[in-house]
Amino acid sequence: MAANRVNVPRVVVSPKAEKSLARRHPWIFSGAVRRHDSGIAAGDTVQLCTPQGRWLAWGAYSPRSQIRVRVWSQKEEEAIDTAFFRRRIATAAALRPRMHLTTPCTATRVINAESDGVPGLIVDRYGDFLVCQFLTAGVERWRETIVEELGRLPGIKGIYERSDVDVRAKEGLVKQSGLLWGQAPPDRIEVSMGRVRMWADVAGGHKTGLYLDQRENQAVVARLASGAEMLDCFSHLGGFGLRAMQSGAKAVTHIDASPDILDLARQTALLNGLETAPIEYVAANVFEKLREFRDRQRSFDLIVLDPPKFVASMGQMNRGCRGYKDINLLAMKLLRQGGILATFSCSGLVTAPLFQKIVADAAVDAGRSARLIQHLHQAADHPVALNFPECDYLKGMVCLIE
Ligand code: SAH
Repeated sequence: MAANRVNVPRVVVSPKAEKSLARRHPWIFSGAVRRHDSGIAAGDTVQLCTPQGRWLAWGAYSPRSQIRVRVWSQKEEEAIDTAFFRRRIATAAALRPRMHLTTPCTATRVINAESDGVPGLIVDRYGDFLVCQFLTAGVERWRETIVEELGRLPGIKGIYERSDVDVRAKEGLVKQSGLLWGQAPPDRIEVSMGRVRMWADVAGGHKTGLYLDQRENQAVVARLASGAEMLDCFSHLGGFGLRAMQSGAKAVTHIDASPDILDLARQTALLNGLETAPIEYVAANVFEKLREFRDRQRSFDLIVLDPPKFVASMGQMNRGCRGYKDINLLAMKLLRQGGILATFSCSGLVTAPLFQKIVADAAVDAGRSARLIQHLHQAADHPVALNFPECDYLKGMVCLIE
């Protein structure tokens, strides 16, 4: 169906926003809105226009958010309707096999929000089940359509929602989770990522049940692990440590703050037939445990640092950067000559050059020389639309430490 402009409310934007739209950036901030028709509700489709009335884009209105409009389409003839969501979902799903995942796996990100043309929507697939996050007023408005269209993807038995995240508050939306469609998923879904088998705790786990963004980096680190005594900091279920163990690591120590998560990590090791492997689980704060290891002069050949997001807003920048420097400095002190540090930041606001500088400063203060041998990035099924660099959040560095 072709779009019809007549009944669609107008939002007039500034010349600066017009330029940003010309570069296909999908966000219009509240300050760029010059005026708008009255009575626009959250999630309504609006037409973005220049002050002279020239049509620019279709978008979804978010009256409570600083990001006032998120663009659905810059094709005037494209109606925002069921067929639109069907096309975007089908396109995203069809692209996944072409993203050259390094390992065959049954856990993938199917829709990565703005970067797949559906702002605010995250969809992860675990085996035969999908888990969704509706993060903005626009996708909230279209949730029934989206769920119905997701249910059309081949092989899907059930769709579960995990929109129990704080960012929904910025859109004036309450947290929400539960079954949306079809069969309820089991408490834990067993998935495989290459040789490693994992549990996705869809109802209660972090994010949508697992961290999928590190899958390919875990394989990279595992290739460096042969014969190594390894320390996996912020281990969660042991994605890095277990894979390293399978690739011939001598011993692995996991540290995570959550004893419940470490229980599941132990069960995950059993699932992988590693019951007799020299794997240790330490429930502790990484900041404190690294200091204790330093004081006890423990040393390792390979250390992974994969902390949670330290910088969620500009106000947290200084403190967060100090946090990154602290753990990197301590880790470098614990590494043997020729040891390897695989260090990550998932704070989108900390750019790759800034993170590299923090790690370089940590090396100076630790009195170690560090050589960067590989840059790492979020997994390929979390693509970054080049018109939307904001979603390029995960950066990692593999460094050789002398
Ligand atoms: N490396 C994991 C993902 C890590 S997510 C993977 O590849 O799958 C971050 C983890 O850090 C969470 O499991 C959380 O419980 C843990 N965590 C957060 N703050 C911590 C702290 N200060 N000390 C130890 N663990 C912490």
